[in-house]
Amino acid sequence: MANILVTGGAGYIGSHTAHQLIARGHNVQVADNLSRGHRHNVAPERLHVVDLADTPRLTALMREQQTDAVIHFAAYIAVGESTKVPELYFTNNVGGSLSLLNAMTEAGVRRLVFSSTAAVYGMPARVPITEDMPFEPLSPYGESKVMVEKILGWMDQFRGLRSIALRYFNACGAEPDSGLGEEHEPETHLIPLLFRAIRTGQPVTIFGDDYDTPDGTCIRDYIHVSDLADAHILAVDHLLKGGASDAFNAGTGSGFTVMEVLRAVEEVTGRKVPYSLGPRRDGDPATLVADSTKLQRTLKWTPRRSHIKAIVQDAWAFEQKRVAR
Ligand code: UDP
Repeated sequence: MANILVTGGAGYIGSHTAHQLIARGHNVQVADNLSRGHRHNVAPERLHVVDLADTPRLTALMREQQTDAVIHFAAYIAVGESTKVPELYFTNNVGGSLSLLNAMTEAGVRRLVFSSTAAVYGMPARVPITEDMPFEPLSPYGESKVMVEKILGWMDQFRGLRSIALRYFNACGAEPDSGLGEEHEPETHLIPLLFRAIRTGQPVTIFGDDYDTPDGTCIRDYIHVSDLADAHILAVDHLLKGGASDAFNAGTGSGFTVMEVLRAVEEVTGRKVPYSLGPRRDGDPATLVADSTKLQRTLKWTPRRSHIKAIVQDAWAFEQKRVAR
């Protein structure tokens, strides 16, 4: 049993991870300012409504809880928004992380799991993507994650802070039995938008069908949020056992086109998805697929729920609960 602080634990991946940590008997506290997360995702006795910028409160919280490790999710995640208000992304994602790191130094906490992203690679020269490929982010969002990964490298060297960065590919799915799932506002992700199109009858726009892929739509590596949560648990266990700092891709190694996902949604829901074809979205690479061999070998991680049908089934079951709420 360890004392673990989860920042952004009221958000999508954070809430699933916190839930699994609790199920394994850890003492979990959540720090979230609820700017994008949801109060209903966290039990009230675990929730500390605090901003990442508030270094003294984070320090006090970690001292009081005798925190052993931090899993740091709290960040803004919308690529498009980051190109419109880059300051917001650097302030919150980089400045917020620095404030957290300062608090960790003050409180003597030296283990951190960090939410990174496939967006650190930009348009990769080849797929599947391995961790040694260069950082070439195409947005302030991607750059903000690169910056924090680099800071973590220096913190390892000069502060003895051991960290693991998990570079997520396309997180999706839900744990409907726990009432947890994806609810971003505004929503930009494909599967929830396909559901919305079914619900409202308003067509979803497919961003480009002239890519160099079998059906012309983009290929992504869709990973179930429960499998991502597992990866965080393995990462924090590794650090608590004295493991070294590292970075891992978290994806399945298989890709699906936008149209394949749309067809899976139609199959699972038994409903037609109204859609229209639109232009490409800026900065979208044709194919993003992870080579996650390193994560599988080093941390003994196995994706279990990341089949497109299981993903859509879980997401759809959550969608019914969310809409009924
Ligand atoms: N996509 C789309 N229409 C939408 C939202 C997404 O065609 O309304 C496509 C997008 O171009 C990408 C894939 O769906 O190829 C997944 O996009 P999402 O925003 O969910 O994740 P990303 O790949 O940007 O992390």
